[in-house]
Amino acid sequence: MFIVPPSVQIYEPKEEEELLRHIEVCGRTAYQTEPGTKPEDVNSFVKSLISKGHLSVLEHESLTVFFVCSRATGNQIVRHRIAAYTQESARFCNYSLGKFGNELCVIRPASIPGVMTGRFSSLQAYKTERTLRFVNSEDPDELFTPELMWVDAMISAEIGYKNLCSLTSPETARGVLPLDLKTTIAATMNIRQWRHVIKQRISLTCSPGMRESMSMLLLEVNGRYPILFSNL
Ligand SMILES: Cc1cc2nc3c(=O)[nH]c(=O)nc-3n(C[C@H](O)[C@H](O)[C@H](O)COP(=O)(O)OP(=O)(O)OC[C@H]3O[C@@H](n4cnc5c(N)ncnc54)[C@H](O)[C@@H]3O)c2cc1C
Repeated sequence: MFIVPPSVQIYEPKEEEELLRHIEVCGRTAYQTEPGTKPEDVNSFVKSLISKGHLSVLEHESLTVFFVCSRATGNQIVRHRIAAYTQESARFCNYSLGKFGNELCVIRPASIPGVMTGRFSSLQAYKTERTLRFVNSEDPDELFTPELMWVDAMISAEIGYKNLCSLTSPETARGVLPLDLKTTIAATMNIRQWRHVIKQRISLTCSPGMRESMSMLLLEVNGRYPILFSNL
């Protein structure tokens, strides 16, 4: 079993200037002004659109983002309707085959402290590795910690899944897969909708996994596109 952290990646990200120029040209239609006229530069023009709430103009540009996250987080992402999605299929992917290393891949949960990432063949292997990595760690034989209980549950699910796969199809066996199973989702949304989704999902009221993925995305878009995302 692999335990991996979540990640986000923008697919072939454009330069901010390119996005802003497109938004500017469309936005200026409303005012019948030319680029370079008041307010002068493209940055000030787009900033003023955003501050005035003229947000529909942001719908002219979009981003495709690849999320590697848990199924639980994926279920929440796809609730956002103004988007196009394609998600890794647990019907078509047989995780008991060599292509997937004969193993399940699960996401390190954001709400359980201390879960290690890596490849672990059993709970015992996890505990041994834990002792090696953290020489002064507490007694790893103690099963009643959320960390070890979670690892135990994931290993059990993997055993059940592989057993079922040997007798039935992946689409039958997937019924025993955990919500912390790793999934990959390609999500395409326009800039206005990304702003909405990120703002809604970084709130402290949201689930930790969703917050973690959206916070990573915020960091990424803020770095690349500060004019479009820095005021969330
Ligand atoms: C903290 C939190 C807890 C949640 N808990 C639950 C839960 O327990 N159970 C559950 O089922 N869901 C839950 N959700 C999901 C939530 O109900 C929404 O379905 C989800 O967040 C999508 O966001 P959105 O409603 O803004 O719509 P989006 O699909 O992101 O659409 C963006 C915007 O477009 C407009 N829009 C889209 N579709 C329509 C429409 N049909 N009619 C009118 N306007 C529309 C709205 O203005 C909307 O805000 C939760 C969400 C959060 C943030």
